[in-house]
Amino acid sequence: MRVLVVEDEPELLQVTAQTLRESGFAVDEAADGEEGLYKATTWEYDAIVLDLMLPKIDGWTLLGKLRKKKKTPVLILSARDGVRDRVQGLDIGADDYLVKPFELSELLARLRALIRRAAGQALPQIKIGDVTVDTRTRTVTKDGSLADLTGREYAIVECLALQRGGLVTRTYLYEHIFDENDDSLSNLIEVHVSNIRKKLGKDFIKTRRGQGYIVDD
Ligand code: CA
Repeated sequence: MRVLVVEDEPELLQVTAQTLRESGFAVDEAADGEEGLYKATTWEYDAIVLDLMLPKIDGWTLLGKLRKKKKTPVLILSARDGVRDRVQGLDIGADDYLVKPFELSELLARLRALIRRAAGQALPQIKIGDVTVDTRTRTVTKDGSLADLTGREYAIVECLALQRGGLVTRTYLYEHIFDENDDSLSNLIEVHVSNIRKKLGKDFIKTRRGQGYIVDD
């Protein structure tokens, strides 16, 4: 899952982005509202973490402009704990709100919940046949035993599982699994898919030739 963090305090931006990466997210960063708005409207994110008090364009304005184009889930992060700010953020179209200082574990849990809900998935565990994907622990079990997936492989499985039954294009996978700085050869989706099939069964991921992939039970 790929998220954008828009935050002008360098230390908080760095710590937040780092924590999200360690938890398996692909993370893009923006240090002001202008850069944030550009990235938010240009790329496809699974969620956006948005500070309110930002240079160039403030968080409310950014969110208002974004909502004219996209419904990407947005979690507002703000030092302001006033009810008015919170209500205004939610009214403009934010999906959740976290007041600074916050626990990174809570930010992670809220982001996972936002992404699940946006995919129409209420529970953290997704069952597909004999395979269970646990988005909370980022683990996959097959017939009850833990599958030994790499971080990239897990990210692909999660992405497909959240949209099970639907066609997921290769472009979609590239956009949602790799961040803006990632252009290594290890990005070859086909290679990862082939390795996932070795671990979860060759029919777990079906290929629609020239279109993309599907998982379904
Ligand atoms: Ca700020």
